Amino acid sequence: MSNFITRFAPSPTGYLHKGHAASASLAFGWAQMRGGVCLLRIEDIDSQRCRPPFEQAIYEDLHWLGFRWPDPVLRQSEHLGDYRKTLRHLRDKGLVYRCFKTRKQVLEDIARAPHGAGSVYHGPRRPLGNEAEQSLITSGKTYAWRLSLKACREHLGSAYEGLVFTNNGRKTQANPDALGDVILARKDVGTSYHLACTHDDAKQNITDIIRGTDLLASTHIHRLLQEIMGWPVPNYHHHGLLTDRDGKRFAKRDQAQTLRALRQAGETPQNILASFAGLR
Ligand code: GLU
Repeated sequence: MSNFITRFAPSPTGYLHKGHAASASLAFGWAQMRGGVCLLRIEDIDSQRCRPPFEQAIYEDLHWLGFRWPDPVLRQSEHLGDYRKTLRHLRDKGLVYRCFKTRKQVLEDIARAPHGAGSVYHGPRRPLGNEAEQSLITSGKTYAWRLSLKACREHLGSAYEGLVFTNNGRKTQANPDALGDVILARKDVGTSYHLACTHDDAKQNITDIIRGTDLLASTHIHRLLQEIMGWPVPNYHHHGLLTDRDGKRFAKRDQAQTLRALRQAGETPQNILASFAGLR
């Protein structure tokens, strides 16, 4: 058996659709081709949006497509303590800060930023003092933990500029600034996609990550987290996204394209998988 380990990591916030099936077929297909393994991971940190019937449907739909994975399946909701520990580590190093701003306030800050920062938040102009922060906490104001790219840059020194990863076989310079000071934990959830996903890719010894190009921007932040945490850096493969006849991406809200609906309409797994033949 080779040491190729990849994963398919859906969130049970809706039924899987053809886009998910395409991603899964690449991940499971590559694992088989390389004599490795594809793990299934349930990314269910958001208890507000995730639902047990959707998780059950993930198992059923993937089985129906013919995919198999080793047990036990990692369910992120059972490992919140691990993510808290990682956040604590980042806090101890001074690499995250509390952000009390509402979404609207963050957008206003972005609009006011000097060099046309686009839609990216690069942190407050002046950090909150300890006293101001304490009084906000005491008054019960909610906050999120954001990664401070400024602090990361200082922490890593010249290594920050030299961060690279392999994407689709090509060496790629990581540019975390393109995403800015992302949220790493919310007060209610205690973690975020970026933190939990990167943590688990390391914990599960993932060697190769196969996912859609919609997540390429996230990889730049994941690469930075790997450097800070001393985690290994997997190879990345970001595949093109499947679109419907109108060129629109499949989304969880398109009920007609869910695997359930297709199955009920008499579609076969063979036909669905065959339709991904040209996908890279
Ligand atoms: N859970 C993420 C999603 O459903 C995918 C995470 C990943 O593949 O990195 O979009």
